[in-house]
Amino acid sequence: MACTFCQIANGSIPSKFVHSDERVIAFRDIRPQAPTHILVCPRQHVDSLWELEDELLAGQLLSVCARVAREAGLEQGWRLIANTREHAGQEVQHLHLHVLGGRPLGRMLSG
Ligand code: 5GP
Ligand code: ZN
Repeated sequence: MACTFCQIANGSIPSKFVHSDERVIAFRDIRPQAPTHILVCPRQHVDSLWELEDELLAGQLLSVCARVAREAGLEQGWRLIANTREHAGQEVQHLHLHVLGGRPLGRMLSG
């Protein structure tokens, strides 16, 4: 079992979850880029958003992102990032969504 996030999901790497249900887990990023930096991912291994075909799971993931952002008190705003494949610099090959907030994040896209 080489995949770190599968190991987090199945408990072989002990982790504190900020959310856990049958299909989705959320936990704090080990190298936080903002005061709140939570990773939301499916328990089941999916390489990236590119491979995600389960539309129900897609909705569940998004819904957990919004829930953990609310629970973290990010009413001033937050950002969702899904680094997908090489050009986005995806480092962990198990689909995860970054929930970032707790400071002004700047604009990512101009125009
Ligand atoms: P990405 O693949 O989207 O570039 O980012 C992967 C993220 O996972 C990084 O922000 C990194 O800090 C985080 N990460 C990598 N390994 C671990 C780990 O073992 N535990 C936790 N909590 N986060 C991790
Ligand atoms: Zn995995």
